[in-house]
Amino acid sequence: MTKRLLTSVAALAAFLVLALWGSAAAQEPAFETRKITDTVYLFRYGTHQAMFVATPEGVIATDPIGYLRPEAVQAYLAEIRRITPAPIRYVVYSHHHYDHIAGGKPFREQGATFVAHRKAEARLVQLQHPDVVIPDVGVDNLYIIELGGVRLELHYVGRNHSDNSLVMLLPKERLLFTVDFIPIETLQFRDLPDGYLPDWFDSLDRVLALDWDRMIPGHPYAGGRLGTKEDVRNLKQYMTDLSDAVKQAAAEGKCYDRAMQEIRLPKYEKWGNYDRFLPGNIERFCEYWGRGY
Ligand SMILES: [Zn+2]
Repeated sequence: MTKRLLTSVAALAAFLVLALWGSAAAQEPAFETRKITDTVYLFRYGTHQAMFVATPEGVIATDPIGYLRPEAVQAYLAEIRRITPAPIRYVVYSHHHYDHIAGGKPFREQGATFVAHRKAEARLVQLQHPDVVIPDVGVDNLYIIELGGVRLELHYVGRNHSDNSLVMLLPKERLLFTVDFIPIETLQFRDLPDGYLPDWFDSLDRVLALDWDRMIPGHPYAGGRLGTKEDVRNLKQYMTDLSDAVKQAAAEGKCYDRAMQEIRLPKYEKWGNYDRFLPGNIERFCEYWGRGY
């Protein structure tokens, strides 16, 4: 009896060890750096991503992604240093939301110039968050950084997920870096907080009008792959289908609650966060069509 009990305990222990080992092996590392071209890298920490460009004359970094986690910024700097000893010349903010731009002080201490849209700069001056470096340069519609043979264009494409998103275009590499307003095969975040309708649609058209092939997103979507223009067109179609469905529901007096319960868009049910964020996405369009917000 005792022997049998011991055998089962041993078997259970072995099972637990294997299960734990299995889940650890399946887990992603906390951070990683992917080389996208000879000079362009994607740095991921947790579920946030930044792009950096390493040239012989210096580094252009983007979003510090260090909100409430200074260790992310230390990892970001160490990853840059693993690749190049060149000075960090610029940090470009994608927009003013803290989860992407907090934690930049260590970049500032290395002498980097901080660049953001002028509306992001104004908002950050107003907010005075202790862990957010205030930009040195406020961009209007277009700003060009040329460094070590690389040209990086910062384009303002209008209001979308905030009123101050800059998209970053590397024309030679045909690469684009966009944050938060173009999720890939994924629904928009909750009720599109800080979002602007209908401007968001125009903004997608303006992104499509730029010349690029691959898009690095500010979060890993769709298994971590980069985005394409087809993804942008599909997202615009999703938002159009959502808008049409909610417009009709609003006319039938179903906004907010019944619309949020009843509307389904089965064409997109395989997309990321479909069940989680569809009600919030409907809520935002109910505000637009049902109330005029
Ligand atoms: Zn954001």
